[in-house]
Amino acid sequence: MTLRCAVIGNPIGHSLSPLIHQYFAEQVGLSLTYTKIQGDDQWFEEQVKCFFNQGGKGLNITAPYKERAFAMALLKTPRCQQALSANTLWMKDGQLLADNTDGAGLINDLKRSIDLTNKQLLICGAGGAARGIIMPLFEAKAAKITLVNRTLEKAQRLLTDFPFIHCVAANAIESSIDVIINATSANFEGKTWVFPESLMATKPFCYDLAYAVDEPTAFVSYAIQYDCPSMDGLGMLVEQAAEAFFIWHGVRPETTEVLNRIRPQ
Ligand code: NDP
Repeated sequence: MTLRCAVIGNPIGHSLSPLIHQYFAEQVGLSLTYTKIQGDDQWFEEQVKCFFNQGGKGLNITAPYKERAFAMALLKTPRCQQALSANTLWMKDGQLLADNTDGAGLINDLKRSIDLTNKQLLICGAGGAARGIIMPLFEAKAAKITLVNRTLEKAQRLLTDFPFIHCVAANAIESSIDVIINATSANFEGKTWVFPESLMATKPFCYDLAYAVDEPTAFVSYAIQYDCPSMDGLGMLVEQAAEAFFIWHGVRPETTEVLNRIRPQ
């Protein structure tokens, strides 16, 4: 039997999820179709219901619908509750279930390069992605998590759910940072946050949630200028997909091989 999965978002044209899931399916010998659904702001909820009514097995959600997907689901995993947004939906016993696999995806990708234990982290951005990664980073035993955002009040709102983070204004970023995680969407405009020279001079590890297959993202280019070790979020994308694949199909695919197929080293 061929299983049917999909990703819904707007825009959706450039999504790599179909390719990633097809590679996973090939790897484990699963017959799968995985398509892109162009989301419609007016009809998103109907589109989701229709997908599952027609026998869809699993649906990934991308911007800008993660919060709406969260609101639709009857049951949510604890990490999904913390993120207040969902990127993975499926049905069980006639009920819609939701998870958010972004945080696990980030941690699994970071593990390839750095041990977060006792590290001083700086997260830049306070949107949906930032919300999804804070708790997994805390659980990875970071020593301190500082958060900075263009709109400080939005960062401060996160303190209610994550009282252990430190929110600072852009001009109050300290230099004792081991890892900078860019969770802004500035890359969509080809822009990057500019950090104090004194911080970049200490050569923190720079991780960009944004990704591009063929060229460095704006933040990765910026990190390279300062000789900082850096990675973009393509690995996170593959890892979050692997978590969703496991939820839907009960098999954990091998991710490094798929990452190398998408972007040969
Ligand atoms: P949101 O729209 O929810 O949040 C965007 C954030 O970026 C806000 O904090 C916003 O600040 C900030 N921002 C936007 N433009 C700028 C700018 N020019 N300068 C400084 N800050 C800016 O987006 P998400 O949280 O959903 O996504 C953030 C990024 O993470 C995106 O690039 C997305 O592609 C990526 N992502 C990658 C994943 C992966 O698997 N690799 C998974 C999920 C997300 P303000 O509050 O002031 O508006």
